Amino acid sequence: MPPPHHRPGGGFRNPWIGAGAPALGGLLKWMLVHRTTRPRPRDPPPSRFPRLQPLFAVPRAAPDRLIVTWVGHSSFLIQVGGLNVVTDPMWSVRASPLSFVGPRRWVPPGIDFAELPPIDLVLLSHNHYDHLDNRTVRRLSAGHPRATWLVPLGLAGFVRRRGARDVSEHDWWQETRVHGALVACTPAQHFSSRSIGDRGATLWCGWAVITETHRVFFAGDTAYHPEFARIAERFGPFDLALLPIGGYEPRWFMRAVHMNPEEAVRAFRDLGGSRTVMVPMHWGTFKLTDEAMDEPPVRAHAAWREAGLPVERFWLLAHGESRGLE
Ligand code: ZN
Ligand code: ZN
Repeated sequence: MPPPHHRPGGGFRNPWIGAGAPALGGLLKWMLVHRTTRPRPRDPPPSRFPRLQPLFAVPRAAPDRLIVTWVGHSSFLIQVGGLNVVTDPMWSVRASPLSFVGPRRWVPPGIDFAELPPIDLVLLSHNHYDHLDNRTVRRLSAGHPRATWLVPLGLAGFVRRRGARDVSEHDWWQETRVHGALVACTPAQHFSSRSIGDRGATLWCGWAVITETHRVFFAGDTAYHPEFARIAERFGPFDLALLPIGGYEPRWFMRAVHMNPEEAVRAFRDLGGSRTVMVPMHWGTFKLTDEAMDEPPVRAHAAWREAGLPVERFWLLAHGESRGLE
């Protein structure tokens, strides 16, 4: 029996009840009716989003140090276990198949591409344009040819065709050893698509990275789902949980694919670590959905306080900001 997230006849689906991906009819209703008939909140000017000078270790951090730097959106440089790891690398101006149309960057990448230290490991969550970027994959595979790429099922060909050499595909719950770290592919509630007719053809996921001294969870793109506690049981307790907080309005359409800030805090509580730090991601970089660009962290922070969680474990990073744990 194939696992329930494998579609009979090929491709993938969300296995949880009520977790179907939004249908094309909903997309059209959002784009053509909802967006044109409702007033949308005003976005602050991009200058309201500061870009800090990153303070990552060059070329690598000590094996017992953890340093995380936010590039923007779901792209991070994570220095852990003596490795340089990047998640969902996206350095281009537009999250789109076309160079002249589609969501444009609000804030430049927090690390200049040329300044990246040598990359050992690249983790991809899924194939949406704001996470998997043609040009960035080409630049990374050319500039960092020794990197190992871990991708969900069905995505190896895409990155190999763009020059990546050491690539392996993973299904949910599958674990692998990379340069002394244990890396595990974790479930997410989302979908995949890059063009018409390819919905669900490749898998979506999160990743857990476990070294001798630290455990990091990168959730990918996900709606709230019932597996966060199980992920932490198997691979936690985490030192750092990178959780998406943006891309949630309108709710009737987005709730099946993206958590809102309150759900992200709920997912954080499901993860349950007594020392886990939350790092919000997937906000403030590309205008994808209807909420204001600066709303997600305000609501996440309010939900955090409401839940009585300690402020020092909520790391709201600015673009380019680095923070470390011993
Ligand atoms: Zn996505
Ligand atoms: Zn996304």
